[in-house]
Amino acid sequence: MKELLTIDHLRTFFKTEAGTVRAVDDVSLQIKPGETVCIVGESGSGKSITAMSIMGLIESAGGKVEGGSIQFQDRDLLKLSRNELRTIRGHEIAMIFQEPMSSLNPVLKIGEQVIEPLMEHQKLGRKAARKRAIELIKQVGISRAEQIIDAYPHELSGGMLQRVMIAMAISCGPKLLIADEPTTALDVTIQAQILDLLRSLKGESGMSILLITHDLGVVAEMADYVAVMYAGKIVEQGEVEAIFANPKHPYTKGLLRSKPIMNQLQDELYSIPGQVPNPLELTESCYFHDRCEQCMAICRTKQPALVPVGESQQAACWLYEEEKRYA
Ligand code: SF4
Repeated sequence: MKELLTIDHLRTFFKTEAGTVRAVDDVSLQIKPGETVCIVGESGSGKSITAMSIMGLIESAGGKVEGGSIQFQDRDLLKLSRNELRTIRGHEIAMIFQEPMSSLNPVLKIGEQVIEPLMEHQKLGRKAARKRAIELIKQVGISRAEQIIDAYPHELSGGMLQRVMIAMAISCGPKLLIADEPTTALDVTIQAQILDLLRSLKGESGMSILLITHDLGVVAEMADYVAVMYAGKIVEQGEVEAIFANPKHPYTKGLLRSKPIMNQLQDELYSIPGQVPNPLELTESCYFHDRCEQCMAICRTKQPALVPVGESQQAACWLYEEEKRYA
């Protein structure tokens, strides 16, 4: 099946007074129609910057896309004008964020904020847009839609606000929904409801989802395909079943070991030793070498490339390069 989105060798950097932060460095990833792809990693791994690069939000955040391409259907998003990108953002690609409150205007009623994009992008009149807004709010599982539409954001719970954001995001029938940590700020029960909602909306519409998360529980629930990011690079990617059953990269193995499981005491929980490296102090080594129990001499001097490992995975680790050499 032809890919909906193809990210090819994307490099997004931020120049600071202290030096250049290579927030996303040579990332390639594909999303097929109807597929849910999760990017997982610790904070600072580059997963949100990858999403922002797709949305064309890098310059306003002070960064620059230095290289690569982001092909959405037949268009390279990095080559579009501001207006063309704005049209795609409203119609074909939508995004929801961790903190719905930061995306909503606190002094405008919910209805105004849902109605306005419907009038702008779908060219609906005010009355028709209000009717459609009520339908959308019902579709995301809010039963008192007629009352909620006249409420202000501060009158709603975090879970309700995230549902409103999802209603706004799906209002134009996007082909791709990017969800950046959409459940992180919510309590566990509401998290599960929002994930259920995303899954059922995807089932109804056939849209693809790019889900950014640090939570492997969310990955297990949602993903068809997973990319594990570390210090701006993809270190492992593959089908979700393969990654969970047989992780290859030592970082992925560490993440899976540190995932809480039922009946496990908190103090038995594994945590990967050490810290993510300072992005201003990256060298030519494997970026994970300081934290890796299997580190070899070559890992300290040379960076491994992402290579096929097994049937459906790729990993960037000298263990597999070495394996190939002596096979
Ligand atoms: Fe560990 Fe070396 Fe693999 Fe890096 S390349 S993850 S240091 S074994």
